[in-house]
Amino acid sequence: MPSFIPKTMIPYGKQDLSHDDITAVVDVLNSDYLTQGPKVPEFEQAIAHYCNAQFATATNSATSALHIACLALNVSENDTVWTSPVSFVASSNCALYCGAKIHFVDIDSRNGNISVQALSDKLQQAKLHNTLPKVVIVVHLAGNSCDMEAIHQLSIQYNFSVIEDASHAIGANYKGNKVGCCQFSDISIFSFHPVKIITSAEGGMALTNNIELTEKMQLLRSHGITNNTKQMTEESHGPWYYQQVSLGFNYRMTELQAALGLSQIKRLDEFVNKRNALARVYDEAFLDSELTCLLPDNDTFSSYHLYIVVLPHSQKESHKDIITSLRASNIFAHVHYIPIHLQPYYQALGFQNGDFPFAEDYYQRAISLPLYPNLTADEQQYIIHTLLSTLEQLNHKTSIE
Ligand SMILES: *Cc1c(COP(=O)(O)O)cnc(C)c1O
Repeated sequence: MPSFIPKTMIPYGKQDLSHDDITAVVDVLNSDYLTQGPKVPEFEQAIAHYCNAQFATATNSATSALHIACLALNVSENDTVWTSPVSFVASSNCALYCGAKIHFVDIDSRNGNISVQALSDKLQQAKLHNTLPKVVIVVHLAGNSCDMEAIHQLSIQYNFSVIEDASHAIGANYKGNKVGCCQFSDISIFSFHPVKIITSAEGGMALTNNIELTEKMQLLRSHGITNNTKQMTEESHGPWYYQQVSLGFNYRMTELQAALGLSQIKRLDEFVNKRNALARVYDEAFLDSELTCLLPDNDTFSSYHLYIVVLPHSQKESHKDIITSLRASNIFAHVHYIPIHLQPYYQALGFQNGDFPFAEDYYQRAISLPLYPNLTADEQQYIIHTLLSTLEQLNHKTSIE
């Protein structure tokens, strides 16, 4: 029994802000620009440079970045977009914002990512029925990259675009390159929500190597308005002139957010390394237990946004009790995610229980444990001990029943 007992709830994720981060934001408050100043383009360049992508467009959230990414790829009423059911609802809502239809592809239980085999099978069927998707949005669950090379091959074979919802995966690698480099996709999206790897409070970013997509996204995040004469349909009326050339939104990131993000990038690798070190401790602690850990593939380096364990089938019934008991012990265990197609809004669209059996089975057994750079060794040992003894008690209970 560890002597350490937490006095308050250990969250599942938490930002790590330094004195420098705070100073960077205060400096902006003392400057001339709270929005549309120099920090946003600086943040965009820093992220593009880090990922080795050519262009980056900052937005006020990953959700808005996903929306304008779909629009830039011309997703509209007559189109279908496919994504994974095991994700946050934003991964599929973005297609609905464009008036498109959404469909899901079941997951690979080994890592919780979209199953490349299921995708390939569904594409083959869709081709026969002339219902191929315009865009497939893949999600790197927990920070572990999908098999992008295989997905890219399919995108060429079946002629669809690929968006990476890399909200969990800044700092992760796939086959030696940074996630976000867009080697095997059209656009990659990051989120800077406080539970993610680095934060700008709220914020997102869309990366691409395609200048036309970038120009479209830059217009769409700011009302569809341009003051670049090259994008205008007629000669400028004068120095005040601007034109609205598409129907855009106000999805802009503020200077305060960009300054925070810029300051946080400096510790991005440190954060990811700490998350990996903590994940190794969990891996080892659960090695001899009945828990299965979602493991990164051999050719990937995970950013470990989440640490997810999966209960054995025999303990499916105890899933809720285990999480409830962990929460009662001040451990904010969570589940990522409730399959999107089970949400009432999606059920009203026609999706049903049983549509994506691997996603549903995973949902009944997955538990996200606290993981963030400042999680202490004492806290982690307490979490491990509490989880393992909860499992032991359950086993004991079932064996005397
Ligand atoms: C967090 C998250 C989003 C949304 O990010 P916001 O910046 O909060 O809009 C989208 N997709 C996934 C997979 C996420 O985890």
